[in-house]
Amino acid sequence: MNDIKERLLAVKSQIVKAAQRCSRNPDEITLVAVSKKKSADTVIDAIKSGVDILGENYIQEAVDKIEAINQNYFAKHENNEKKIGINRDVIWHFIGHLQSNKAKVAVKYFDLIHTVDSLKLAREINRQAEKIGKIQNILIQINISEEETKSGVDADNTIELASSIANLKFISLRGLMGMPPFFDEPERARPYFRRIAQIRDAIKNNNIDGISMEHLSMGMSGDFEVAIEEGATMVRIGTSIFGSRA
Ligand SMILES: *Cc1c(COP(=O)(O)O)cnc(C)c1O
Repeated sequence: MNDIKERLLAVKSQIVKAAQRCSRNPDEITLVAVSKKKSADTVIDAIKSGVDILGENYIQEAVDKIEAINQNYFAKHENNEKKIGINRDVIWHFIGHLQSNKAKVAVKYFDLIHTVDSLKLAREINRQAEKIGKIQNILIQINISEEETKSGVDADNTIELASSIANLKFISLRGLMGMPPFFDEPERARPYFRRIAQIRDAIKNNNIDGISMEHLSMGMSGDFEVAIEEGATMVRIGTSIFGSRA
């Protein structure tokens, strides 16, 4: 078994165990394998090892990689078999900071954008999605750590942003994403995860038409087990699957 497959299986079993510890159904938790700074070949290894959803942070890097993978591996060939020998598609999620002028590309390539943090960006995504007749799935990113440098909408403004986004016909708001500050001890991230879940509940309780709040994208390699205990439905894991990034 290759390294990626071994690490992937270990991560999946940790996810199952964390879910069981808090009496959650492990099937409710989606693994997003974060492949930023990893090559197309490495991503292919991950796909062959069983990864279905990939997370990318940088638009141009992601587009180059997705195109290379689609052409070299997923393109149908003469015998009508996909070259990679795998009869399933992979899905790409955008998890990096997104500027409005890249919204068009993001809408073209990504199934879910985790990082919408302003109405301006949401409107541009809506406009681009309308042009290609797509309903774009998004999450609102909350700046839960309240660090100046981190992107995300302030916790206090999240409900208002969600209500405004609810009016955009070509966007489907599916939940929230957030990142605690980095801690050596994952336990210290718990209050931040809990806060994100509380904000999600508050939005749910507002019964805003046209949005669903089923997803909480929270937890990375260092803290995903705590995030699962606090209700994460998507964990974004890079290092624990792919090894450290150069
Ligand atoms: C890089 C990154 C991850 C993955 O981090 P690891 O610690 O390598 O698991 C998750 N989410 C976001 C937003 C990232 O930028």
